[in-house]
Amino acid sequence: MASRIEMVNPIVEIDGDEMARVLWHWVKDMLILPYVDLKTEYYDLHVKKRDETNDQVTVQAAEAIKKWRVGVKCATITPNAERVREYNLKKEWVSPNATIRKILDGTIFRAPIMMRNIQPAVRFWRKPIVVARHAFGDIYDGVGLRFQGPVEAEIIVKQGDGRTLCAKFPKIDGPGVIQGIYNIDKSIESFARASFRYALENKLDLWFAAKDTISKVYDARFKEIFNNVYESEFRDKYEAAGLNYHYFLIDDALARVVRSEGGFVWACKNYDGDVLSDFIASAYAGTLALMTSTLFSPDGYFLSEAAHGTIQRHYYRYLKGEKTSTNPTAIIFAWALALKRRGELDGTIELVDFAFKLEKAVRVTIEDDKVMTADLAKVAEPPINRTVDTESFIIAVRRNLEKLLHKSNP
Ligand code: NAP
Ligand code: MG
Repeated sequence: MASRIEMVNPIVEIDGDEMARVLWHWVKDMLILPYVDLKTEYYDLHVKKRDETNDQVTVQAAEAIKKWRVGVKCATITPNAERVREYNLKKEWVSPNATIRKILDGTIFRAPIMMRNIQPAVRFWRKPIVVARHAFGDIYDGVGLRFQGPVEAEIIVKQGDGRTLCAKFPKIDGPGVIQGIYNIDKSIESFARASFRYALENKLDLWFAAKDTISKVYDARFKEIFNNVYESEFRDKYEAAGLNYHYFLIDDALARVVRSEGGFVWACKNYDGDVLSDFIASAYAGTLALMTSTLFSPDGYFLSEAAHGTIQRHYYRYLKGEKTSTNPTAIIFAWALALKRRGELDGTIELVDFAFKLEKAVRVTIEDDKVMTADLAKVAEPPINRTVDTESFIIAVRRNLEKLLHKSNP
């Protein structure tokens, strides 16, 4: 066998839970380790490990990404009351993704993995639409009240410099409800910068959409910050790369998205991103297993993962000894993205080349060989009747990977 590809610096490997964890090791053992002398700094975020370390292992993993700049993460359980009982946990630990995102000041970019025989619901879409969600503030950190009868209401803000600001609502004829939300310039700026950088690195246009015609202070501030960041840091680079930045009103943007052929990053405010990322995901393939999720910071820290969760229902079947037809595509792509990024940063062309071939091997398996797990077979065109279990799928990918590797290294 040809010698394995050497790595210069490690990738931060973040292990997770349930079926995703099972797939994680199969993918590593069968598709990566035979070909790459894999260097990783390993952090085990199994929910029990997080519990034992009072979640410090999550913080350490995030800090490691700051050091090594590239990470790859397996899906992890975000514990709720049920999970606390199931795993006998000390408490409902917060979502590891939220902790990591906070430490890296990162933005999540969700990108569909497009396959020739998996048609998007929107027939014009030929290229990916990557949704970037600003995961800070707005209604997710807002306050609300129910009130009785007609009321007068105002928002009062006490600044650190002693000044008090006030905005009055028009007279309200209640009973009813009221809500206050906020955001901060620094977070909007980081979001804008990460979005511009990601789009530039991936040679895609950037769209940002809000409703500044109605939200004349709040959304207008987002629009202004995006514009400032573009003019002061990115315009020259975008022009040199032949890329564009567009601001649209959110309703106009959605209409344009549906008519477009794709091929851009769509930066969304928190709620818009929450709703639209799921919409775009299911409109592309009807399965989360064809979607990657990349955390990217304004400083260029990078963490890739599959967009799906731990696939709990499949895991329980696996524990009973059943073979499942779980799709490892997004996990394979998450690894490929991390290897590619590592290779690019370190100047190891063989690693980048391997990562491309790994992606290609999955593509050949699904598009040419028509070997598919159950979730894909359901949405493939033309329809596929025969499905394979996870291991058979990985073995088929491995066969194609071998062919691709041998083609260039006879
Ligand atoms: P999920 O793991 O994404 O799975 C939901 C359903 O989607 C599965 O039951 C399965 O449908 C289908 N599915 C997802 N990935 C698939 C794949 N690779 N191959 C085939 N089918 C796939 O979401 P969940 O069950 O709601 O969440 C489970 C756990 O994941 C939760 O504890 C949650 O906290 C965690 N989670 C973690 C992350 C993360 O770490 N980034 C993200 C989301 C959720 P069928 O059962 O119909 O086949
Ligand atoms: Mg959502």
